[in-house]
Amino acid sequence: MQDCLFCRIVRGEIPAAKVYEDDEVLAFNDIQPQRPVHVLVIPKKHITSLAHAGVEDTPVLGRMLAVANQIAVDQGSTDGFRSIINTGRVGGQEVMHVHMHIVGGQEPVGPMLKR
Ligand code: 5GP
Ligand code: ZN
Repeated sequence: MQDCLFCRIVRGEIPAAKVYEDDEVLAFNDIQPQRPVHVLVIPKKHITSLAHAGVEDTPVLGRMLAVANQIAVDQGSTDGFRSIINTGRVGGQEVMHVHMHIVGGQEPVGPMLKR
């Protein structure tokens, strides 16, 4: 995936403020934070969206969830956070490489969807 923005971040071709990394997962601060803590957690392997994920992706998708709380706590969201994965047109996905938003801080994030 030569031109994928997040693959380019994984390869170090575009800078990002990394906050967590292991062999399968990378996390970095969102460039336009919506809350005091706003981190994107991505698989290092290119997966376009959850609509493109398969059972073979179970380990890395599970790891994204499993590391989320530690990332949130390390960034100062010590009493919970919201995790969001937008998928496709209906989900409002803008970057076509699976990413989980971790949003939080010290104040509640609020209702899940605007009503
Ligand atoms: P989506 O709408 O696809 O769920 O979220 C994409 C997110 O990626 C947005 O919150 C946007 O601010 C973030 N983003 C877009 N381009 C970049 C970038 O070059 N670097 C970083 N760190 N975040 C980005
Ligand atoms: Zn990619």
